[in-house]
Amino acid sequence: MIELVSQSRCIECNLCVKVCPTNVFDEVDGGAPVIARQSACQTCFMCEVYCPADALYVAPEAEASVAVDEDRLIDLGLLGSYREAVGWGPGRTPGAAKVDATDYMQEKIRKVLH
Ligand code: SF4
Ligand code: SF4
Repeated sequence: MIELVSQSRCIECNLCVKVCPTNVFDEVDGGAPVIARQSACQTCFMCEVYCPADALYVAPEAEASVAVDEDRLIDLGLLGSYREAVGWGPGRTPGAAKVDATDYMQEKIRKVLH
């Protein structure tokens, strides 16, 4: 479930607002989008892979919201890590990465829990 919009990283492009299939975000004039309808999140990771600023964090837990700490996620290298893993972003080849999504999510959970 979507858990974080980093205020310091967001460049206010509103791509996440546009790509979210369930309209979770609301645009904010002159600011980062807000998570307005978190319970509508389908944990599809679409916003995270589109975000050009690595400003979003979608937790693998789909059934309930979990507490996250932005500094810790940065320390763990998790902000933007899925986008990188699937080969999206400058200098990467989209679709080239062979990611086992299940393994990736288990590793994401393991990092946060330990
Ligand atoms: S896609 Fe990323 S940078 Fe763009 S508005 Fe959303 S959070 Fe901000
Ligand atoms: S993970 Fe999917 S459903 Fe959830 S906020 Fe991001 S784009 Fe929307």
